[in-house]
This record gives sequence, C-alpha cells and structure tokens, in this order.
Amino acid sequence: MTLRTLDDVDVGGKRVLLRVDFNVPISGGAVGDDSRIRAALPTIQELIDREAIIIACSHLGRPRGQTVPDLTLRPVADRLSELLGTNVTFISEVVGESVSRAVSELHPGSVALLENLRFEAGEERNDVDLARRLAALADVYVNDAFGAAHRAHASTEGVAHHLPAVAGRLMEREVHALSRVLQHPDPPLTLVLGGAKVSDKIGVIEAFLERASNILIGGAMANTFLLAQGYDVGKSLAEPDLVETASRLITSADQRAVQLWLPTDVVVAASPDDGSNAAVALVAEVENDKSIFDIGPDTVAAFAGPIRDAGTIVWNGPMGMFEREPFDEGTNAVAKLVADASGFSLVGGGDSVAAITRAGLADQIDHVSTGGGASLEFLEGKTLPGIAVLEANGA
Ligand code: ADP
Ligand code: MG
Repeated sequence: MTLRTLDDVDVGGKRVLLRVDFNVPISGGAVGDDSRIRAALPTIQELIDREAIIIACSHLGRPRGQTVPDLTLRPVADRLSELLGTNVTFISEVVGESVSRAVSELHPGSVALLENLRFEAGEERNDVDLARRLAALADVYVNDAFGAAHRAHASTEGVAHHLPAVAGRLMEREVHALSRVLQHPDPPLTLVLGGAKVSDKIGVIEAFLERASNILIGGAMANTFLLAQGYDVGKSLAEPDLVETASRLITSADQRAVQLWLPTDVVVAASPDDGSNAAVALVAEVENDKSIFDIGPDTVAAFAGPIRDAGTIVWNGPMGMFEREPFDEGTNAVAKLVADASGFSLVGGGDSVAAITRAGLADQIDHVSTGGGASLEFLEGKTLPGIAVLEANGA
C-alpha cells in the first residue's frame, strides 16, 4: 500500500483541515520546547505557497472532553505566528457556527488554528458526528500528526472517511524512514533498547528477533533481563513479573542466532541523589542496598562494535537515568556511537530524542522520529489507524 501525499491533491484555493501534533509543553502561558511546531513548518509553508486556506488543529494534554483554560492552544497560535512570520488566526472553538463563520472569512494562503481538539468529548471516542463536523469545515484533509497516528480519534482517523485524505510532509518522512527500517534495512540491523520498562517494549523486541542481527539492551529494562540471568539487582527498578518473559526472549534470541547484548558492568548508587558516590560494579557484584542507574564503561565498549558495524541502527530508550548526572554517561556515550556510526540511524522515543538533542547530536542522526508511542507501534509492525486511512482513502 502506498501513502497518499500532498503530491496527490490540488489544494490551491481549497480549505485544508491540517491535523498537526502541537502537543507541546506550556508553562506560564507560553510555549516551552517548540520542536513539534517547527517539525510541522515545511508542510504549513508548502500549503501557504500553494495558496491553500489552512485550518490547523491539534490536541494538547489531557482535558478529557472538558474546556480546561490552561490547555488552550492560544499560546501555540502565537508561537506559530512568530515562526511563520505571518498572522495565525486563533479560533477559540473546535466546531460550531462561530468556527464555520471564522473559516469562511479566511483567504487563500492564510493560516488558522482551532482550539484544543480534546475539549470535545467526541475526539478521543472517535465520534462520527464530530468527525463529520470537522470534515464539513474543509475540502481536503492533511494529516501531519505522526505522533498521534497510533490513536484512532475523530481528528486522526474518523475525519479521513469524509474527505480526500493525504499525508503531510512530516508524516511522509516518518513513514518512509520507519518503513525502510522495518521492510528493507541495510544489514546487519542493530536494535538498541533502553528506558524504564520491558513491558513497553516487548512487542518491539519480538518484532526485531525476526529481523535484527544484534539487540543491545540497557536502561532499567536491562535489570529484568539480569534477573532472568540469575543476577541480584539490589533495589534497582525492575519488573519481577516479567522475568519469565525475559527468559523466553533470551532463549528465542539464542534459537534465531540473534545476538542479545546485556550489560556486563553497571553504575550503582544508593539513590538517584547519591551521584557523588556512584561506582562501577560488575553485574554479579551489585549490593543489596544499591540500585543500578546506568550501564558501565565495559558495556559501552562492548556495545560499540555492533553499533559501528551496523548497516542500520534503531535506538529507543536511554541507557540509564540520564536526567541525573553522572547517570547520563552511558546514554551520552551510546548517543555518540550512534551519531558516529556509518549505518542508517533512526532514533525514536521522547526521552532518547531529548538525550540526543541535548548532546547536540540530532543532526548526525538520519531520522529522528517525532513520535514516541507511534514509532514504537510502527516498529512492532502494527497497523497505525491514522496511517491506514491515508493509504486506503482516495481523493
Ligand atoms: P523513551 O521515552 O526514549 O522511549 P522511556 O520513556 O521508555 O524512554 O524511558 C525513559 C526513562 O527511563 C527515563 O526517565 C529514565 O530515567 C528511566 N531509566 C532508564 N534507566 C534507568 C535506571 N537504570 N533506573 C531508573 N530509571 C531509569
Ligand atoms: Mg519516555
């Protein structure tokens, strides 16, 4: 199936309902990190250049169908205005007569932003009536909200059944990079996984047992695998009820000749606040009153080979509690290895992307995904509802 894109529709003079992911941090009534807004600019600029009438829409936070003043998108409209260098009309409702009226006053090449979609209870329920009312505002639907594509909501899935529906440029880039990794990766394929929980990532491990040559595991999720190997992890964050699953995954890797790399040494401390007393320990030597907060230097050295030699590298999840020094060292070292590697590199997951951005290495990564949950589900091989409708629906 091929994705329908902006190349497949005529948007000149037409009203375009543009779903974007403007779910950005807001504090004190102003936008914090605006990278999600910036990520949508190429699509918005193209639509402006093609003289579309742009009606952008997004969710923000979790208002659960209520109007929550702190979760208004008004500050986002202001930031978007600044970034585009053109006025963005903020429309203070999602649907209804006042919205239709405001839209009818827009000219080709102008941009409006609707209020937070999740102020409407029908959004997360994928309510047909809300989908129809959103569709009635426009002639064409463009979805650039990759980060929300794993959810079947009225603005990400439902509306696409009522209008010609295509992917925006960001969505197109995401699907292209992730498909490449999933369907025809340059071998050998190395998966680097970390983060808090095995439970979040079992699906990805299973999918990559079918296609990867190497799977490298760090972060707190490695602790559950260390338990499965019979090590004591002290007070470390782990999921004891998933030890059996971890054992099964280790056996499965063995049977498929997938090399599974686990930490051989780790950085331990009494608590996250005890960084000044952090010490390196072999995995067999973690004391009862200590927790593992990072991978150790021998593990970093071992991980270097399969990252350097990979034709394709996929990284999701930090190697330790990277928010706290000195437990960011393993993550920073892996970030550098992935950035320096010659293979095609893809990084997904909110915290891994934050780590690689903070290290100043994002521009050395071939594809930095804007979707956390969405990129994980894509890599699991699942069909994402927000993408499926852009493949099936015709203009
Ligand atoms: P991503 O957002 O990249 O998918 P996750 O959300 O799965 O990553 O996990 C990131 C979180 O995991 C971070 O908050 C980090 O502090 C935590 N973490 C990683 N390793 C450890 C560890 N050894 N102990 C405690 N927390 C950890
Ligand atoms: Mg996260």
